[in-house]
Amino acid sequence: MDNNDETRSAETTEAAETAEVKDAADSAEIKETTEVPEPTEVSCQTAEKINLEKFSPRQLLELDACTRCGECSNWCPAYDQDNREPLTPRGRATQFKDIVSRQHGVFSADSVLGRLLGKKPVTVEEMKQFARDLYACSTCMQCHFVCPVFIDTVELWERIRECIVDSGYGPLEMQKDLVKKTKAYDNPWGQPRSSRARWGKIAKKKKRIKEIPGDISKQKAEVLYFVGCTASYDNNVEEVGINTVNILSHAGIDFGILGNREKCCGSVLLRMGDRESFERIAKENIQQFNDLGFKTFVTSCAGCLKTVREDYKKIGGLNFEVKHTLEYIVDLIKAGRLELKNNVNAKVTYHDPCHLGRHAGCFDAPRELLSLIPGLEFVEMERNRENSRCCGAGGGLKSAYPDMQNEISQKRVADAVATGATELVSACPFCYQGLQIGIQAMDAKIRMRDITELVCMAIGEEPSPEDRDKS
Ligand code: SF4
Ligand code: SF4
Repeated sequence: MDNNDETRSAETTEAAETAEVKDAADSAEIKETTEVPEPTEVSCQTAEKINLEKFSPRQLLELDACTRCGECSNWCPAYDQDNREPLTPRGRATQFKDIVSRQHGVFSADSVLGRLLGKKPVTVEEMKQFARDLYACSTCMQCHFVCPVFIDTVELWERIRECIVDSGYGPLEMQKDLVKKTKAYDNPWGQPRSSRARWGKIAKKKKRIKEIPGDISKQKAEVLYFVGCTASYDNNVEEVGINTVNILSHAGIDFGILGNREKCCGSVLLRMGDRESFERIAKENIQQFNDLGFKTFVTSCAGCLKTVREDYKKIGGLNFEVKHTLEYIVDLIKAGRLELKNNVNAKVTYHDPCHLGRHAGCFDAPRELLSLIPGLEFVEMERNRENSRCCGAGGGLKSAYPDMQNEISQKRVADAVATGATELVSACPFCYQGLQIGIQAMDAKIRMRDITELVCMAIGEEPSPEDRDKS
């Protein structure tokens, strides 16, 4: 480690700013071609027609399939905070169907039959209000799991968001920055590409890791550890990267990272409805990953996992398997390559990240892993697995409606506190951030932990002195 390796605060130093400016210049071409369209001025003028080619026949049928039973409303975390019908999955589907029927078909507002029936054209202001309500959703997928007619709600919401973006009504003002930064800097936080791997240098300097992981593009390895944007840039969740590196090193895994070549997985773009930009970044990532020839892609982020494992395969073939860190750790324990030998005397409860649980079907592995940690007392929250309450951080909800996210997070923290647990464990940097907001707002007596932290304690890779102080 040389003297230029500084603490995380160095990201705001002149050097970092210089790098950022250089990066911005590097990405000037990208910015020029990917500018988010500005919404049309507020007016009562007729709105542009939604392009229905984006929807599969099944999705168009799903708009008609809603029986209006209202079960989804009983579970939706956004509606729980703002009791307006347009925020319910039922209301959203019904409203979109109304927009489509007034714009298309024999009963549309501009058809003879439509005029006879008194159909009104869809106005720009209506579309803008629809967009505001559409983005008041964390894409948590709870509505899909409770819907008796199995409407694939989140696929539908994401497709509708694409149409809204194409028409210039989305993403919302407060979300645009996130999208622009992802396109310009390859991360939603607008940090320089050149400092993406700085967390590793700092951790080495602080003796939190023994070695900085090798650059997999220079030195082939069996496993790619994909750190993700949040764990790379947010020092509040740097533990996730540090712990993962320590676990993989402890088990003697042949792994590497992409360092400054790592780019956002594109999840933020897809969830916001910017499919064109998502596909571009996904194709670049798929090409880069496949060319590297590793066998296993490991990530500690639920959003990256869902995006790479579930969404990338719709874009291109992957010549490697994709695993969340906790799934990979369970495999290592079963293969006898990792031994959890130290007692971790704590009472913990587990929060299922929406994009790991409901979206990717990973419910058993975290519970199996927690059951293998000696000394640990595990207690379930009343809402768990498929019915786990969302933390509100996903789907762009936190950026557009931070107050709503805060309230949603507090409800989840209250669920955790009610169990009597002293530790709230999850497996996603985004959930970690989102739940911390609730813990702080409530001044709750529960400690947020990433699951990798408990594994580190169990294998004898002690947390840092700062971390111990926080416990
Ligand atoms: S995905 Fe979640 S937040 Fe969005 S409508 Fe469904 S239940 Fe509500
Ligand atoms: S649960 Fe399904 S069928 Fe019932 S109102 Fe909601 S979207 Fe419609």
